[in-house]
Formats: sequence, C-alpha cells, structure tokens
Amino acid sequence: MKVTEYFKQANDQTLISFEVLPPLKGGQMQDIFNALDPLMEFKPPFIDVTYHREEFIYKKRKSGYYEKTAIRKRPGTVGICASIMHRYGVDAVPHLICGGFTKEDTENALIDLHFLNVDNVLALRGDARKFEGKFIPEEGGHEYALDLVKQVSDMNSGKYLDSNIENGAATDFCIGIAGYPEKHFEAPNLELDLAFTKAKIDAGADYIVTQMFFDNQKYFDYVKACRAAGINVPIVPGLKPITKKYQLNSIPRLFHVDMPGDLVKAVTEASTPEARTQAGVEWCIAQSQELKAAGAPCLHYYTMGDSSTIRKIAEAVY
Ligand code: FAD
Repeated sequence: MKVTEYFKQANDQTLISFEVLPPLKGGQMQDIFNALDPLMEFKPPFIDVTYHREEFIYKKRKSGYYEKTAIRKRPGTVGICASIMHRYGVDAVPHLICGGFTKEDTENALIDLHFLNVDNVLALRGDARKFEGKFIPEEGGHEYALDLVKQVSDMNSGKYLDSNIENGAATDFCIGIAGYPEKHFEAPNLELDLAFTKAKIDAGADYIVTQMFFDNQKYFDYVKACRAAGINVPIVPGLKPITKKYQLNSIPRLFHVDMPGDLVKAVTEASTPEARTQAGVEWCIAQSQELKAAGAPCLHYYTMGDSSTIRKIAEAVY
C-alpha cells in the first residue's frame, strides 16, 4: 500500500517508521532482521531501506602507483526490501538515487520493484562521492532528484524511455522526497530550496521526509514555510538520537544541521558513556513527544544500526 494511504487511514494518529541501512558487503539478511525484530511490535506500516552508490578507493600497487577501484560497500537494497515485505508483511520503501545510475538503470530498477509489488520509492539525488568536491551525475543519468521524480511519474503514466513501447504497463509508485528544515547545504537560500522542492511535488512527488534535526522549532518553521510556498503534502520529521559525544561534531559536519546548546550541554556534562547516551535518548523522546502532540503524520527514525536505542525511544513515545 502507498505511504500516503497509510497517512490518510491513520485519522490524525502519528505513525512510526524506521530506516535501515543495507549490511556491509559480506554481511547477511539476518543482520537486518536482528535490527528490525525488536522494533516490529511498534507496528511501523513501512520501513525505508537506504541506497549506497559505489565509492572510489585507491589501492597501492607494487610499482608504487595507486590504482583507482570502485566498490559498493552496501549493495542489496532491492532484495532487502523484498525480504522485509515477505517476513513482516509491511511495506518497504527503497531509496533510489541519481548517483551511479543511468536513466536505463533506473528504469530497470523500477521494473524490478514493480514486479516485486513495491508500491513506494524515496527519490533522491545522492551525495558527492568522497574525493569529489561536488555531485557528478552518471553519464546518461540524472543531475537532480527532480529529474528522477519525473522519470518515476512518467512510468506511472506508462511512459518508458524506449519510444518503441506504446501503452506500456503503468506503474503506480507513491513517491517520497527529501526535505531540509535547515536548508540543503548547497542551496543558496531556503526560498530557492523550497522552489526546487515544490517543483518535485508538481512533478508528482507525494510526501516529504526531512533530514534529521534536533530543534523542533526548525521543523515547525519549515512546515510553515512549505505551506506558504504552496507545498501541501505530508511532511514526515526524520529523527536520530545522539548516543556518543563525538556525534555533536560529526553530525553537523556530515548532515549540515545545528545542535541546540542545551543538548550539547546535557551530553557533554554527562559523566559516563551510558549517561551521555541517556541524555541523547531523553532529548529525542522529548522531541518525539512534542512532534506527536503537534500532529506530525509519522515519526521516522534513522536507526543507523542501533535498534536498542530506538526501541527505548519508541517505548516511551508509543
Ligand atoms: P536535489 O533535490 O536534487 O537537491 C540537491 C541540491 O540541488 C539542493 O541544494 C537543491 O536546492 C538544488 N536543486 C534541486 N533541484 C535543482 C534544479 N533543478 N536546479 C538547480 N538546483 C537544484 N543519500 C544516499 O546516497 N542514499 C540514501 O539512501 C539517502 N537517503 C536519504 C533520506 C533522507 C530522508 C534524506 C533527507 C537524505 C537522504 N540522502 C541519501 C542524502 C541525499 O541524497 C543528499 O542530501 C543529497 O545531497 C541531496 O538529495 P536531494 O534528493 O535532496 O537532491
């Protein structure tokens, strides 16, 4: 079923959903089940599975020269989605990215997902590869998530890349996109960022999942700004608890978000690693409770392989 249909059926109740990463290459599906099993009692109607493009690594050869090699550390998104749907009877939302995909690759991935009865996708651009200063699209691929949304929408109307296909089978994907309460870091300003977001909605996107944030006011202001810009789709807050002190620096660096002073103080003043995790968990519980009370359609937790912490939060909130 479509994510947006779950929102409609929820009658203003705040749903819960989780996002998991494919295991590192060499891992197994059981790793994902071990992460999800303790969370399923909270009845998430859908689970997101991230997608990771290949990275370049440089291996030193005997000659002393370095060899550039492309590796994908976390393959398997489509198979993991099928496996989650089969085991738990819930919907899975694969993330689709522009990076590393030609339009043909995207079309073939969408055909696979359609055959597997996957009804939802989260359409994203993807980040720049390490060692590349900016996002470089695949030759014959998409530069922006907007173009990916357009391709999925085209397939929803039975329009395939191959012009010889007339009246192709129409897919019916519900399309999610990313939103940034603190602005996407490359956007010159929030107004332009929202204009590009609106273009994705106009092209067929159905809902937004936000980047993580630690100050709910940023989410409330973002929703207000979206509505003022004519973006009227559900906006799902993305949440991640701080569990380690180093995350106070690494998360702002990696995700371009601010840390409120009170959160930094609570984590840094805690005297043990356990107390630091507890401070982060309590902050996330308070955030979740306020968002739920404010009527957010769903709370979307970035598990990042740490389901025991997410479980503590879900127990307190649901
Ligand atoms: P876009 O919408 O393409 O926007 C990128 C930048 O370009 C923005 O600054 C925007 O303002 C600007 N822009 C957009 N359209 C245009 C245009 N037409 N002309 C000029 N500028 C434009 N990454 C992964 O690799 N795998 C994942 O699984 C993954 N999951 C994510 C899930 C969520 C909920 C979120 C919030 C992010 C996720 N990301 C993931 C990270 C995401 O790929 C990056 O944040 C990326 O830098 C931007 O993706 P986007 O879809 O927002 O890009």
